[in-house]
Amino acid sequence: MKKNKKEEMRLIFLGPPGSGKGTQAQLISKNFGIPHISTGDIFRNIIKTNKPKKLADIVNKYVKEGLLVPDDIVFECVKTALKNNKSFILDGYPRNLNQAELLDKYFGNNGINKVIYFKVTDKEIIKRLSSRRVCPKCGKVYNIYTLKPKKDNICDICGIKLIIREDDKVSTIKKRLKVYKKETLPLIDYYKKKNLLLEVKANDTVENIYNNIVSNIIK
Ligand code: AMP
Repeated sequence: MKKNKKEEMRLIFLGPPGSGKGTQAQLISKNFGIPHISTGDIFRNIIKTNKPKKLADIVNKYVKEGLLVPDDIVFECVKTALKNNKSFILDGYPRNLNQAELLDKYFGNNGINKVIYFKVTDKEIIKRLSSRRVCPKCGKVYNIYTLKPKKDNICDICGIKLIIREDDKVSTIKKRLKVYKKETLPLIDYYKKKNLLLEVKANDTVENIYNNIVSNIIK
């Protein structure tokens, strides 16, 4: 795998839940030293720590239901996470047109270098999400078929038992997919028109997808 890139990289990873964008974001973040900003992780952390409590109560309602957290709340969290980072991977943001426009206003027109779109079928998503496991401590994502931990159901890094995310239940997955199609799919055209879109077929191996992305973002 290629590593070490010195130039700035401001990337958006776009795709339905379970398309593997989080896994690729973790890998690229680690290998290139680029901060990985996952709005889903930010919200899960707020809920887990229950801090700030008022925010945790609001966010929990939406996440539990598989619905989008209101745009103003998400954007405040994203701005805090971005800090002054020159490079970043935004994973799970933006998720609708209004969020994309807020981001464009914030960075100006040349803010984003590339948008990686992870294309995958609904059937594959349901299979993937229901076989996904995560470490409750470090957040590392596994899959019981394709990305197994070294020891059954135990995190390679923390040595503790893996869990199934609450919103990975089949009924919630279906709702999240519906929200994705209605709210997030229009972003594909939005970024295509801006000539930023790179489409990757997400039903490939983790390594092939990684190499495909890297060869396209390293010029
Ligand atoms: P994810 O792990 O990216 O699938 O996100 C989990 C949940 O967090 C989503 O189902 C939403 O409830 C919430 N969430 C994450 N990112 C966003 C976003 N950009 N806008 C609104 N809600 C979000």
